[in-house]
Order: sequence, then C-alpha cells, then structure tokens
Amino acid sequence: MAEISSKPHALLVPSPMMGHLIPLMELASSLVTHHNFHVTVVVVSPNSSPELSKVIQSAKTKKLYDIVELPAPSSGHVSNMAGAVFTNLAALMLDAISSLRSAISVLEVKPAAMIVDIFGTPALTVAEEFHMLKYVMVASCARPLTVLLYAPVLDTQIQGEYLDCEELLEIPGCKAVRPEDVAKPMMNRKDREYGAYLRKANDIASMSDGIMINTWEDLEAKSLKAMREHPEWNKILKVPVYTIGPLFRSAGQSSGGPTTPRSELLDWLDKQPKESVLYVAFGSMGVLSAEQIIEMAWGLELSKQRFIWVVHPPSKRSGDKGNDISEYLPEGFMARTHERGVVVTAWAPQSEILAHSSVGGTLSHCGWNSSVESILNGVPMIAWPLYAEQTMIATQLVEELKVAIKPKELPTKAVAGREEIEMLVKKIMEQKEGDEMRARVKELKASGEKALSKEGSSFNMLSELSRLCKINTEQQGQKV
Ligand code: UDP
Repeated sequence: MAEISSKPHALLVPSPMMGHLIPLMELASSLVTHHNFHVTVVVVSPNSSPELSKVIQSAKTKKLYDIVELPAPSSGHVSNMAGAVFTNLAALMLDAISSLRSAISVLEVKPAAMIVDIFGTPALTVAEEFHMLKYVMVASCARPLTVLLYAPVLDTQIQGEYLDCEELLEIPGCKAVRPEDVAKPMMNRKDREYGAYLRKANDIASMSDGIMINTWEDLEAKSLKAMREHPEWNKILKVPVYTIGPLFRSAGQSSGGPTTPRSELLDWLDKQPKESVLYVAFGSMGVLSAEQIIEMAWGLELSKQRFIWVVHPPSKRSGDKGNDISEYLPEGFMARTHERGVVVTAWAPQSEILAHSSVGGTLSHCGWNSSVESILNGVPMIAWPLYAEQTMIATQLVEELKVAIKPKELPTKAVAGREEIEMLVKKIMEQKEGDEMRARVKELKASGEKALSKEGSSFNMLSELSRLCKINTEQQGQKV
C-alpha cells in the first residue's frame, strides 16, 4: 500500500472499441513501466465482442495495472459501431457514468488524473467531481484531430455538403484538406452522426485539461505547431496538446497474450523468405463487398506474391451467401494459391505478423493503430481506407509521409479491379518504388523510437504528466 500511494495514480477509461482500447492499454503499460505510475483501467464490459474480452483478460493476466470492469449498459448501443460510433459510443459512455462513479468511490487510492478516449468525454464530469486532472487521449493522429476540432468552425463557414465543395477545406496553419478526405460523420450533414461529431469537437476542446495524441513531434510537426501556436487555434483550443506516441503493441502482445500457443500462421511465416509476404487486413470492423473480394482474390493470385489475407464475409444483404468465406472467393482460388498464400477468417495476431521478418508489405484499411504498427515494424503500405477517418490517414501516408501507395479511386467509391490490385501489389513487393518506401518507413520507425526513448519528446511529455499528477495529489492531500 505504501508503495502504491507514493506513485501518481492515473485512471484510464477506454471505450469498448478495439482501436481505442488497445492504445489506451498501451498507454497504461507505458505509464507503469517507464513513468512509475500506479494505473487503474476501468472498462465498460464489452459483452458484444469476444475479442475485446480476450484483450482485457490478457491484460489481467499480466497484472501490470489494475483493471475494473463495469457491467455493460443494458441499452445495447454497441451494435453497428462502424456505422454510428459518435452517436452510439457517446450514449454508451453516458450510460456507464453512474457505475464509473461508484467504482471510483471505492478505490483505496484516489486517482490524480482521468484519461479517456474521445468517446469517453462524458466521464470527465465524474473526474471533475473527484478533483482529478482530465485528459482526452486521441487514439488517432494529429491531422484528423485538427479537422474534428475545426469542424464547428467549418460548419459556420460552409453551406451544403462538404463533399460538394469545389475548393479544398482550409484549416488554419495546416495542410488544406480535400473534401473527399473528411471523416465519415462529415459526409452527410443531415445525419445525426454529424451533430454528434460537432458536439464531440466542442467537448474535447472545452472539457479537458489537455489532449494527448498517439503521434510524435517529428511525424506531424506542422499540424502540432498550428494547434499550439496559430492565433485562430488559440481561440478554439485553450489546453495543451501532448504527443505521447507511437503507442503500439509490439510482437508478443496480441490479444491472446503470452499463454496463447504460437499461431500456425507464424510457423508458416518462419518458412517464407525475408520481406516476401504481403499482409492484407482491414482492422476490427472492415469488410469488403462481395465483388471486391473477388477482385482482391484475383489481384493477389495474378501478382504471384506470397500473402496472408484476413477476410470476412461481406456485410449481410438479402441474397448474399452464408458465412463461409470460400463461397465468396473465386472457384479454385484456395487450391491455386495454397503454397504461397494463407486466408484467415478469424482474428489475426496482427502485431506478431507485422513484426515478422518475412513480411515485406501490407494492404491496410489505414486504421491509425494498424498504420503505427506498420510504421514501427518498417512495413510499407497499400492504403485501402474504408471508414472513420481512414481516408485522411491514407492521404497522409501516401502524399506526406510517402510510405504508402493507393488505388486510383477510393475503395469506398469504386471497386478496384484485379489488374490494378496486381499492379499495386507488385509495386510494393518487388519494384523500386516499394524499396524506396521501405527505406522511408524505416526512417519513420527510427524517429518514432527516438520519441519514445528516454528524454525523447513523447517520453518527456509523459514525464510532465507525472509531475502534474504529483502536484495534484499533493494539493488534494493538503485539502483533506
Ligand atoms: N487487430 C488484430 N487482429 C485482427 C484485426 C485487428 O490484432 O484480426 C488489431 C490491430 O493490430 C490493431 C487494432 O486491432 O491494433 C485495430 O485498430 P485500428 O486502429 O488499426 O483499426 P480499427 O479496428 O479501429 O478500425
């Protein structure tokens, strides 16, 4: 007990969504391992997702930090997360508030700070009640955050749909944004998701004592400088911005954790030549259309490259086939490619796969966690954005960071044909352009590692958080 109370205590409240839970748990590990924090992670029980439960179980086994599970709210908002996250998760986190309050009131050591993800801002009112410092941790990177935070201003400046704008969207001090790159909630201003998105922007900017972003200074210097220094930004953002990334799971930390037997996939990878395998995956929620699955399969086959393809049946429509993925693949595909390709229909041990030396490229939906995992493993990408803010991240990876290539048309707009996929795969796996991207991504990997290292920019930002938490603990102690 004495040991615990001498450390700053942080309470992390991730919303039950894989792309948010994983980086917040990584933050918890980093605070404990490198910054001498005592951490309690409070999770809303994700009764809808066995994979989320596995991640939580795995963290419990490691015993690095405390985990408190709140009962799942009965209202069932968790369905269709890819469709309406801003509306559904906000409602779910709001429902969880009273059980969160009860959970905090029985903690032996009162936390000095609460850290939520962007969907958890309702919980910050509870942090206020307990005199905690309040932080929002952004699981994505800085550029989509600038668009989210600036959206309430764009809302007053622009008439009609953003997608119909002929000009680029100007964000002060930042690179202008193509209308087609905006996040999904901005694509239909009449949808209630758009209203929830704008409210979220206001909450993030006004409710916290600081915003933490899973990025690092050298990666997004321009956006970060704008948010901190530009006079227009000073009007909307009055709290500090901390870069604390890259937070990512390195090999050995996949959901099954250390007790899971080593996957057959990894044994298969062991037998493949160095950097010869393309890893194709679309995150925790991405699905392709039936037509796109056929074209992807042909593209992979025609490319003659080795691959691991994580693929799920398309979302159900009337007339669709069943849940067996082979019904959606071209006839004979598995037999023709089995020597050089593996099709995975379950949850894949992605962090181990991307860290494996046989993997030389990835075709990815550009979720930020997957993008960071690719960068920190030195793996270049074919960008295949599908939902949320992924199109903006794809543009950033391709045009600014130059570690990815992408199809001519956005995958959300048109089906990419087999010849184009074959060309993209060959380019990344066996041509000069792929080698150049591989060299560039390794430079980014080094800059990310430097940010995390002792006295690196992200390390120093978390040290500052530790200092602020200690001051808060002292001040609260004096009041008692
Ligand atoms: N992930 C995994 N196996 C899978 C699918 C996803 O391990 O089969 C992990 C992936 O490594 C990443 C997270 O789930 O850490 C997905 O987060 P991301 O931000 O990339 O995408 P999202 O699922 O939020 O769209």
